[in-house]
Amino acid sequence: MNPIGQVVRIKTVNKTTKKIVLIGSGHSHLFFLKKLTSHPHADPEALKSIVIVSPNKDEVYSGLVPTVVSGYCYADQALIPVEKLWQKAGVMWIQDSVLSIDRQRKTVLTSVGIEISWDILSVNAGSTLAGYQSANILPLKPFSPFLKGIEPWIQKIQSASFNSPFHVGVLGSGAAAYEILQALKVRLKNSNVRFSMVSGRPVLDRYSQKISRWAETQLLNQGVNRLTQDWDLKESFLQQKMQSLKMDLLLVSTTPQVVSLGLEEKKIRVAANLQSTLDSSIYASGDSAQFSDLELPSSGVIAVRQGRILAHNLYEDWQNLQRTSGRRVASTHAQFIPPARTLNLLTCGDQKALAIWGNYFKCGHWIWRLKKKIDHDYIQSFRNLL
Ligand SMILES: Cc1cc2nc3c(=O)[nH]c(=O)nc-3n(C[C@H](O)[C@H](O)[C@H](O)COP(=O)(O)OP(=O)(O)OC[C@H]3O[C@@H](n4cnc5c(N)ncnc54)[C@H](O)[C@@H]3O)c2cc1C
Repeated sequence: MNPIGQVVRIKTVNKTTKKIVLIGSGHSHLFFLKKLTSHPHADPEALKSIVIVSPNKDEVYSGLVPTVVSGYCYADQALIPVEKLWQKAGVMWIQDSVLSIDRQRKTVLTSVGIEISWDILSVNAGSTLAGYQSANILPLKPFSPFLKGIEPWIQKIQSASFNSPFHVGVLGSGAAAYEILQALKVRLKNSNVRFSMVSGRPVLDRYSQKISRWAETQLLNQGVNRLTQDWDLKESFLQQKMQSLKMDLLLVSTTPQVVSLGLEEKKIRVAANLQSTLDSSIYASGDSAQFSDLELPSSGVIAVRQGRILAHNLYEDWQNLQRTSGRRVASTHAQFIPPARTLNLLTCGDQKALAIWGNYFKCGHWIWRLKKKIDHDYIQSFRNLL
């Protein structure tokens, strides 16, 4: 519904035109965008049959969030200008959030009440953390409010002279929690601050035991207080805990929840070509997708790899829709094969990064330089399209 309670049906696309609707400018959709711009289309009207609904004009690239917090790059440098990119590609851009998907009617409804029908739908809406009213509890996701929220705290800690150390807690012990804690330690190295990490699970336990033990020892050597308990995520409970531990700021980095789009299932179960196993007119990728029976980690690396497959399959379907007015033709869909291992690069100290490849891991300055280059090249590959 829009603010005056009406549903607005989108009319800008010709009724007879078959439509592809994309939800979210996640990593995977950005590969479809690249595919569209690298195969410039002769007919601009055909491009208007692709509609993207996404809430932000610019998206923060997750790989650079710890680098911004460390102070080694500005928040602006971590932004991908998605609105400009989609508009440059010639597709229809709608700045909004999708509230719900109606599978039967093949429509999506946005937060301002726009209803869009689709012939093919692709969901790449990522995941998020619960919001909190208190200014001293900051969830890491969505990234944009987190980066805006953390900066005044950093300045406050840097400029204040406290009688007792300022106490920062990080709730969670996965890769994001570990990286943010390391990044803050770098940024606040000359400040009177102490850190606690709260989680009943071992640090980096998604990786091997050896890596997890190494990270626990590192935190111990760095003087980080480890509270090996799981906290309830309710705001009142967190405030009570913070008060009893004299914790001034809490960063919430627990497992994010997949963005809910009114479907029964949390994630959309997909086959190897990333089409929903329930409805072949729906694609899902990244954090929005559940790939067969495998539990893949919530990671940009996986979303990027799926992006290449999704781009190929969506592009092919789009061309078929135009050629055949919707009649199904034999497809040569690409298949996503989950990688046995991926290279993970995590901030692990001042200009240091940790490389993890299966059971192998190493922390060093050259890995930080490698990560910096990979992140820079990734962002640049999109900026170069403008
Ligand atoms: C601090 C931190 C650091 C991280 N660093 C790394 C890293 O170095 N490497 C790595 O591989 N992973 C990293 N991750 C994990 C990574 O961020 C996610 O797993 C990854 O971004 C998921 O990609 P995605 O394509 O599924 O969605 P995203 O890239 O999160 O994109 C989701 C898109 O959907 C949009 N959207 C959301 N809701 C709606 C809606 N209702 N309607 C329409 N659009 C919507 C969003 O605005 C966004 O455009 C990190 C996570 C954190 C928290």
